[in-house]
Amino acid sequence: MNWYKKFILPLLIVIILISGFTFFLSQQRESYSEPSAPSAANVENISNVLNVEPPIEYTGTSIPILMYHEIGTGPNSLYVSAENFRAQMNYLYNSGYHTVTMANAQEMLVNEKIPAKTVVLTFDDGYRSIYTRAWPIMQEFGFTGTVFVCTDFSCRANYLTWEEIITLQTAGIEIGSHTKNHIDLKTASTERQTQEIFGSKKALEEKLGVPVKSFCYPTGTYNENTPQLVKVVGYTSAVTVANGQATSKNNFYLIPRVRVPGWASLEQFSNSFR
Ligand SMILES: [Zn+2]
Repeated sequence: MNWYKKFILPLLIVIILISGFTFFLSQQRESYSEPSAPSAANVENISNVLNVEPPIEYTGTSIPILMYHEIGTGPNSLYVSAENFRAQMNYLYNSGYHTVTMANAQEMLVNEKIPAKTVVLTFDDGYRSIYTRAWPIMQEFGFTGTVFVCTDFSCRANYLTWEEIITLQTAGIEIGSHTKNHIDLKTASTERQTQEIFGSKKALEEKLGVPVKSFCYPTGTYNENTPQLVKVVGYTSAVTVANGQATSKNNFYLIPRVRVPGWASLEQFSNSFR
């Protein structure tokens, strides 16, 4: 019986273990089924989940380009209080408006592809209050905008420093030109105009490292040569202080804006969008 104990019994145990394991594997294979291809309905559901943004509808016909200067309390209507500014941003947000930069708006106008409820926030002169008051409020709503700076003002008190200008630009705010010294372009010689219009573009591009596309006439004044000069040196648009919403029919170097005076109530502000 020794040979039986020594060989046959362990062999039997091994055979039982192997057949048991094989049976276990076959059971596993049966329970596994290939995943079925997703149905059309499933694909639609998946894309609904993935594409959270609905397709853009280009149903807009005009863009209000809002004109601000200082945010805070001050002696004249160029000052919009931070409280009013927040209420205005809140109104835009709750009404479904979305903000773009002036350069983006110009592309929309040129291509005649304007998404509904597009608005541009512009700030003239490059005051510090844009950095300290307007921008933090804009960030609350995820809004962008365009700041028109005078490049020779950047070391003066009450104006944005280069560091602040660069911080705004890095954060997605467009920096446009408002000349170097806020001169009256209407009475300036062509040479002086060129220095101010082209010189400020060059200074900004050297500091920011991006093309500067948008221009704003100081106090809205210009002569018959100015718009052409602005175009020739490479800007894609220029805004004035003429009142109105921008449309694709505009001369892109004479784009009107909607002034937001400090005394405007929220109702008066909202009427600008009707
Ligand atoms: Zn100005």
